[in-house]
Amino acid sequence: MTPKPTPAQDRSRVLTINGGSSSIKFALYQTGDPPRRGLQGKIDRIGLPGTSLAFHDPAGNQRETQAIAAGDRVVASQFLYDWLAKRIGFDAIGAIGHRIVNGGARYYEPQPVTEALLDELRHISGYAPEHLPAEIAMIDLFNERMPRLPQVACFDTAFHRNMPRVAKILPIPRRYQADGVERYGFHGLSYAFLMEELARVAGAEAALGKIVLAHLGNGASLAAVRDGKGIDTSMGFTPAAGVPMSTRSGDLDPGLVSYFAHTENMTAQQFHIMINHESGLLGVSETSSDLRDLLEREGTDIRAADAVAMFCYQVKKWIGAFAAALGGIDTLVFAGGIGENSAEIRSRICEGLDFLGIRFDEMRNTAGGPVISADASRAKVRIIHTDEDAVIARAVFRILDATETLQATPPP
Ligand code: ADP
Repeated sequence: MTPKPTPAQDRSRVLTINGGSSSIKFALYQTGDPPRRGLQGKIDRIGLPGTSLAFHDPAGNQRETQAIAAGDRVVASQFLYDWLAKRIGFDAIGAIGHRIVNGGARYYEPQPVTEALLDELRHISGYAPEHLPAEIAMIDLFNERMPRLPQVACFDTAFHRNMPRVAKILPIPRRYQADGVERYGFHGLSYAFLMEELARVAGAEAALGKIVLAHLGNGASLAAVRDGKGIDTSMGFTPAAGVPMSTRSGDLDPGLVSYFAHTENMTAQQFHIMINHESGLLGVSETSSDLRDLLEREGTDIRAADAVAMFCYQVKKWIGAFAAALGGIDTLVFAGGIGENSAEIRSRICEGLDFLGIRFDEMRNTAGGPVISADASRAKVRIIHTDEDAVIARAVFRILDATETLQATPPP
């Protein structure tokens, strides 16, 4: 079937969809430079009791929360579709932009979703079983229900695409490289935003320096950037690598796979679940994946104290590693839910980094930045509020502008 052009759609507005493993965030953007965000919302606790959709008006005021019948991601996606159809109507948007975790070795730059792209994503969905199948299902749902509405894929790997080969190679038998097994790195949409914002607030020269970006949220990673280009990052072939996260382990001794296979008969799937859902802050604390809870309890619960200390220590280690890779640090940026909101964690991470030229200013840190290093500090430490959705929206508007008659994927 040949797709028809989409004259009914209002090309001045786009919808962004950012689906995580247990949440789906969405936002409406109006064209502009930068694009202006309108309504935004989130479905939370997918697959858990108490799934709900909450949305905010453009000023960020919460307008409504709606409970959603218990169910999996498919139920949540269908609920979101119906809710959006009623609330904004799909004629009112020109395209949908999706955050896609990985496009493999073939897809990096934002681009319209085509059948060939979907085929490739299905083919590599094992690269990111926590994310890709859900993201593909969401695109399929819109394709099925709104076959003429264009969709755009924005990949979290693009920022790291040109990392030097030495940073990309994984030290396993070489033949796997040919199958695309290498370090991809993620949080690339966030890193792209942070670099643009850094250039805006600190100037083009600062953005060309030796920079370490720390995106610390439920998922956490760091990136080393020089001359505006990503040269290394802590996540790897999957987003489970690098620093410990809320429920992901981060880097582990690879010997554990066979050890647990022998001692516990642990299967690959059980290992996968353990390192993605039962490890990190949750695994070590045995009580919570949320640093706020752990900071509250660390005085009375050694497990909480261990989890917090481990997180700060490992992030500090990665900053040191990237300082070595970059030959020093000019700017360190904190972002993400933890990086933007927790003065305590920022302070502990930066403790003892004077040798890198970082002179931390506790007063500025407690005040929330934006600069949290002392005036005399050789390296500047900043907090930047990141916004992946804005990067997606900009990419979609760019593609809409460039392709007068951008067409939707024909239904299979
Ligand atoms: P995601 O990776 O899901 O997008 P976010 O970047 O929104 O996550 O970060 C959410 C996490 O940020 C929460 O789980 C919580 O641990 C952490 N967080 C938010 N505010 C604070 C705070 N004030 N102190 C410590 N941690 C915080």
